[in-house]
Amino acid sequence: MSHVQPGCLWVVATPIGHRDDISARAIAILRSVDVIACEDTRHSRPLLMHHNIGAPLTALHEHNEREAVEALVRRLLEGQSVALISDAGTPLVSDPGFRLVRAARAAGVRCAPVPGACAAIAALSVAGLPSDRFVFEGFLPPKAAARRARLQELAEDGRTLIFYESSHRVAESLADMRDVFGAEREAVLARELTKLFETVLGEPLAALASRVAQDPDQQRGECVILVHGRTDQADARVAEGRRIFAILREELPPTKAAKLAASITGAPRRALYEGNE
Ligand code: SAM
Repeated sequence: MSHVQPGCLWVVATPIGHRDDISARAIAILRSVDVIACEDTRHSRPLLMHHNIGAPLTALHEHNEREAVEALVRRLLEGQSVALISDAGTPLVSDPGFRLVRAARAAGVRCAPVPGACAAIAALSVAGLPSDRFVFEGFLPPKAAARRARLQELAEDGRTLIFYESSHRVAESLADMRDVFGAEREAVLARELTKLFETVLGEPLAALASRVAQDPDQQRGECVILVHGRTDQADARVAEGRRIFAILREELPPTKAAKLAASITGAPRRALYEGNE
């Protein structure tokens, strides 16, 4: 039987933009470990060099995850200490690492967090939307039908919704959110946080979607979209929308009646049909 004490797996947050957004403890731990597992060694090296961190690097990404996890858990069980970092922010948050942490814990290895930047939390901290309850949805599906179906599942949720989105889909996603959640629902686009072109725009979804569609600069860089949860006010809008829809429907085809009722009240068009079929 081996008497070697397993090493520790340190899960270390790195900056999401500004390279000094890393804790003193994170730097000390990264300097002391036997190996640092990172997504892309070329990406991480400049940050590590900037902070005088010379520990050897090994790659852990979705294409080599199974073999890399086995090798890292073996090293941990031999008593080595390992740090896990990702390209940006907190590992495992829309980033690799889940399988490593799960395997390490299953093997009885201590996993310790070294907290720091996370784009979702940084965005929430400046959005001015309710932050007592929120839900992190990560990336929406890239295809329109699946994306709208996912948004539909969230339409009744009263918690603040947080999404990561790639810059080339941000306009499309905001347009879908406007259609599903309603023109008046408040939303925030937090772009390039902690970087030179940091921008935080908060507006009702219709205004935000059209501003982003018209301004290619708002479709650049990294972004987080936050949407106010459904409120009683929204419920009142839908109730009013349904009342107007019912009146208009007596004179107009249903699609036209719904379009008008939605633009008069700001209620999502789809919500008007429910209970009115
Ligand atoms: N692990 C990271 C974290 O803790 O936030 C997230 C990694 S995920 C692959 C990358 C996504 O995070 C980007 O597409 C964007 O949605 C968001 N993101 C990362 N950095 C950001 C920044 N500086 N400003 C706004 N969003 C950012």
